[in-house]
Amino acid sequence: MSTKSSLNAFSKAQKLIPGGVNSPVRAFSSVGGSPIFIKEAKGAYLTDVDGNNYVDYVQSWGPLIFGHRDESIEAAVIEAVKHGLSFGAPTIAETDLAELVVSMFNSIDKIRFVSSGTEAVMSAIRLARGFTGRDDIVKFVGCYHGHSDCLLVEAGSGAATFGNPSSPGVPADFTKHTLLAEYNNIESVKKCFADSSDIACVIIEPIAGNMGLIPADKEFLLELKSVCEANGALLIFDEVMSGFRASINGAESITGTTPDIVTLGKVIGGGMPVGAFGARSEIMAQLSPEGPVYQAGTLSGNPVAMAAGFAALSKLKQNSKVMSVLNARGVRLVEGMKKEASVYGIDMQIDTRGSMFGFFFNSNPVKNFADAGKTDSELFASFHAGMLKEGFYFACSLYETGFISTAITDEMIEDTIKASAKVFKEIKNG
Ligand SMILES: *Cc1c(COP(=O)(O)O)cnc(C)c1O
Repeated sequence: MSTKSSLNAFSKAQKLIPGGVNSPVRAFSSVGGSPIFIKEAKGAYLTDVDGNNYVDYVQSWGPLIFGHRDESIEAAVIEAVKHGLSFGAPTIAETDLAELVVSMFNSIDKIRFVSSGTEAVMSAIRLARGFTGRDDIVKFVGCYHGHSDCLLVEAGSGAATFGNPSSPGVPADFTKHTLLAEYNNIESVKKCFADSSDIACVIIEPIAGNMGLIPADKEFLLELKSVCEANGALLIFDEVMSGFRASINGAESITGTTPDIVTLGKVIGGGMPVGAFGARSEIMAQLSPEGPVYQAGTLSGNPVAMAAGFAALSKLKQNSKVMSVLNARGVRLVEGMKKEASVYGIDMQIDTRGSMFGFFFNSNPVKNFADAGKTDSELFASFHAGMLKEGFYFACSLYETGFISTAITDEMIEDTIKASAKVFKEIKNG
């Protein structure tokens, strides 16, 4: 397998773009490799600039639940483009997508669209602060909520991979209102409330996907909600990743905990840049122009992006069984790989939620970021490189989640498991 064209493309990109990439995790730094440059993709497969094909378990970091170039999404985008790229004025496409999302999430009466997950979360935090008239927020160590200033503290995934959880350029004055709690540890949340009577909201990934896949315990979320209620703080579920990936009705439908505000992204745009935040009417009424909390965007609710999102979500809603089919494949994949790993004395911790799957090379259960950090990163790097050579594209950091799309067949899953056996064998035999 030659990757010469990718290597050339990377060295040119590095001269013009910091690190050669427009988002740090893409650089393969944590696995010590060089990134594959993509030429095109179709269904389950990515094709790189050297002509190599890979079964794609990254799917643009989540959005592509129907695989690459899904016919109905592609057709919707082409149709929308013919009518104009952007108007900066309202379109019916925005109301259509809003209606669809509201029909899928019990906790959402009204929604506003933005252009990224980062923007969605940043705006949701402002809304929570405006609604409660309080300044402090609580976040969990290892959860990632985009790269806005007040949330870039102990932020998992890319930030964790690169070892600079609080980035230079973020003034301490901006993060002094961000209190940290430990995932799945209610006492650590209670301590935050004991330390501050000015907490506007607690934000959590209810199914954490940015420190590897670590779903929150049901009881923990129920308690979290009651602690928030008792203290007059709002609970924000950041479902930018898990929304439409773990369940089509949100984490609330599988955890039994109802959030006050939900943030969405990734799948909601069907591959186009879309983020959103929604809540009950009383909270959303605070938002400008209905209320005083300011938030805006030149390309927010972009008609082409709305069309892609609508095509993706309506297809999901019409195929209510799709999530259990994807889950069965995810379970088969991680169970199969775990079994192969055990042959070579390698311990794995595995989990799935809907179309999300995760695995850690770890002997003990992983409940929080500290546990995730005890994963064998060298082993992960060898596994990643080995699988890539075999034609399987996994996320290039051990703190990421894997995704199954409808384009990934049972046969591909079996092939992946077989390849993993070969890779584990090579690793053990040095
Ligand atoms: C990806 C992600 C974000 C950030 O979304 P962007 O579109 O990359 O800005 C925020 N929160 C969670 C949980 C995410 O997974």
